[in-house]
Amino acid sequence: MSAIAWILLAVVAAWALAAGRVPGVVWAAALAAGLALWDMFTHPSASWSPVVWSVFFVVILPLMLAPLRRALISAPLLRLFRRIMPAMSDTEREALEAGTVWWEAELFGGDPNWEELFGLPLPALSTEEQAFLDGPVEKLCAMLDDWDITHERGDLPPEVWRFLKKQGFFGMIVPKKFGGLEFSAQAHSAVVMKVASRSIAAAVTVMVPNSLGPAELLLHYGTDKQKKHYLPRLARGQEVPCFALTSPEAGSDASAMPDRGVVCRDTFKGKKNVLGIRLNWEKRYITLGPVATVLGLAFRLFDPEHLLGEEEDLGITLALIPTGTPGVKIGTRHNPLNIPFQNGPNWGENVFIPFDWVIGGRERVGQGWRMLMESLAAGRSISLPALSVGAGKLACRATGAYARIRRQFKLPIGKFEAVEEALARIAGYTYMMDAARSFTARAVDLGEKPSVASAIVKYQLTEHMRRVVNDAMDIQGGAGICLGPRNFMGRVYQALPISITVEGANLLTRALIVYGQGAVRCHPYVLKEMQAVADKDVSRAVKVFDDALFGHLRYTLSNAARAIWLGVTGARLVPVPVDGPAYRYAQRITRLSTAFALISDAAMLTLGGTLKRKEKISGRFADVLGFLYLASAVIKRFEDDGRPEEDVPLLRFACDYCLHEAEKTLVVILKNFPSRFAAWLLGGLVFPAGRLYTVPGDAMDIGCARLLMEPSPARERLTQGMYVSKTTRDAIGRLEDALPKVIAAETLERRLSQLVEQQPLLHGDFEAQVNAAVGQKIFSAAEAKLVRAACAARRAVIAVDDFPAGKF
Ligand SMILES: Cc1cc2nc3c(=O)[nH]c(=O)nc-3n(C[C@H](O)[C@H](O)[C@H](O)COP(=O)(O)OP(=O)(O)OC[C@H]3O[C@@H](n4cnc5c(N)ncnc54)[C@H](O)[C@@H]3O)c2cc1C
Repeated sequence: MSAIAWILLAVVAAWALAAGRVPGVVWAAALAAGLALWDMFTHPSASWSPVVWSVFFVVILPLMLAPLRRALISAPLLRLFRRIMPAMSDTEREALEAGTVWWEAELFGGDPNWEELFGLPLPALSTEEQAFLDGPVEKLCAMLDDWDITHERGDLPPEVWRFLKKQGFFGMIVPKKFGGLEFSAQAHSAVVMKVASRSIAAAVTVMVPNSLGPAELLLHYGTDKQKKHYLPRLARGQEVPCFALTSPEAGSDASAMPDRGVVCRDTFKGKKNVLGIRLNWEKRYITLGPVATVLGLAFRLFDPEHLLGEEEDLGITLALIPTGTPGVKIGTRHNPLNIPFQNGPNWGENVFIPFDWVIGGRERVGQGWRMLMESLAAGRSISLPALSVGAGKLACRATGAYARIRRQFKLPIGKFEAVEEALARIAGYTYMMDAARSFTARAVDLGEKPSVASAIVKYQLTEHMRRVVNDAMDIQGGAGICLGPRNFMGRVYQALPISITVEGANLLTRALIVYGQGAVRCHPYVLKEMQAVADKDVSRAVKVFDDALFGHLRYTLSNAARAIWLGVTGARLVPVPVDGPAYRYAQRITRLSTAFALISDAAMLTLGGTLKRKEKISGRFADVLGFLYLASAVIKRFEDDGRPEEDVPLLRFACDYCLHEAEKTLVVILKNFPSRFAAWLLGGLVFPAGRLYTVPGDAMDIGCARLLMEPSPARERLTQGMYVSKTTRDAIGRLEDALPKVIAAETLERRLSQLVEQQPLLHGDFEAQVNAAVGQKIFSAAEAKLVRAACAARRAVIAVDDFPAGKF
């Protein structure tokens, strides 16, 4: 065989070994076999053969002996890493280690296990949960008049507050044994979504006590006494909770809060010498704060007199403080962009609290940050994703109908391609958002506290809500701009920045959390390497580091080998346990997941600790991971729904969009990769056949847009779970009423407009036109009635509010 053939054989063999992620001994055995064959068949010159075999025996073989390898390679490398890796603060480490990882870790690892995804149970609500949605939630939505809340009253009406408390809306996560509803995450999400489709102010009010707050913290960390006291009262709405973390000087960087507690002894309720904490704080933006009866407070605790022990700075601690406690100042309100849920600042001046008000008591002192980070994952998986989808469904149903009802240039505006494009985005994004909402809630129901996935859905769903609502506003034109009871989208539009900012502002969530935490938690080896670097037990650390390091090496080689193969074949040979339209999408997700894993490893290797500050790069990685997560949720949803033929345009739109965005972002990462050589090499490995995925095609746009503009099972499925008003006294009810009437009259209206073209004198006077059509036997009396009904319903829909002068 020629030298070229030998080289080719070696490359193919190395590629197969790398792709198979085989252990080091298999590499060594394969190398020995290859050398023996080469020796046997090519009879290399006497001087070459001993040199090659010596390298094998002296360099390669010892690497297979773990003690030798650890002493020669892993231990010196570990020492180097300990020197150069930046030290991590306790709060940083706690934030990184909080929660669990789930499907996003599969995507991060480059070879997602599709059996696991398709084997997940279907999302289901219990009979009791469904009854709650059909009963109290439906009734609540009917009671809500968003204009009255947002404009007239600046609050929910007293009867709504009473209803929320009585029906247990504030205790959805509280177990039944404490009098709560004990709902699944799926049900909790469904409730918030439905209420959000009616009123954002009401949805935020419902969502906060069930998200990160006193109930969630007590459930996981409270003492038995605290649980018995507070949980039944919270479940019944006897207590209104809030949670105060944010301070004027500590917003995104909440762990830097200047709010302080000092351990001391004082008189409390007549009892002398009680061990407790003297608190001073200044908080702002606290939802439900102005009406709260119990305030969850985060502060840094100090023990200067060493009443508890040696340490002075005990760290972030959480306590529950009745708002009637002397020194607590509460009650004033912020105005969050005209969405008047209760939100405001609060202060505490020399407030003395006994130690048993600390959540979890003495043993939880100083653990506040970990408690918050762990609890954040569940709430962040549910609240804002559900709110975003509620808004998306409202846009789908209402704007879709509006685009059919509103006519310009003698046509429904939805028939114009520019509007059709915007409608398609509304439908496709909402389908995708809803899939991700339900998918992630399922993770919570399976016992996960998905810290990275929850950040992905919080970021992606609130951002797509922003796009959907902007498109909806464009389609409504002036009717979206003039506020009043007839405007069904204006308040949702105003609420957009709230969702973007709360529970981790989006710029930070994208840049620091999704990929920053993801790179550590989802990567199969990085956390182990970091733990080894921090481990003070040197011999244990070297062993762990050695395993992780060589595992990491095999992992990277395998991703490189797989990336080029998947790029060349378009991932056509990847086995996926599913048929139909989702099949190719799952294969493509696998390809991009491998590409992501490889480029991400290269970024970590070349940038090391500085990657933390390269937020443009980490933000882009967050986008790729996010889009792969969204696409996975979409194909899972399509399969769970039984592959409905009418939903294929939605599936294709959402998947094409996600894959295109993910692939495009990888290209942008490479374009800006600091090492140009690495970028060139990675580009060759990942895109051997160039970019493969394009934006959703025009045909998909037509399919998705049409689906919004006429009643159908697919439209019902897409908007399932939102509140649909049945009365023509409100905007949504009028749209529901008008849509079938307008569709029924469309052919007749065309005939009418032909008549007007022939008889220009009729122009402008609708009654005269209809009478003429009846008189000339163009319409029967019944047809005239249909046209009149459609016209009246349309006029009711397109009307906007006006107010007496001086009202504003
Ligand atoms: C309506 C509303 C309700 C709220 N409810 C509560 C509540 O109930 N309890 C509570 O404790 N808090 C609450 N908050 C506070 C909320 O969590 C904070 O507003 C949020 O954490 C951001 O802090 P900030 O507003 O001070 O913005 P800043 O911290 O000043 O941030 C400003 C911008 O800079 C970005 N940024 C900051 N640091 C970085 C970084 N390192 N990398 C990239 N970008 C960065 C942020 O993403 C943001 O876009 C609420 C806020 C609002 C507006």
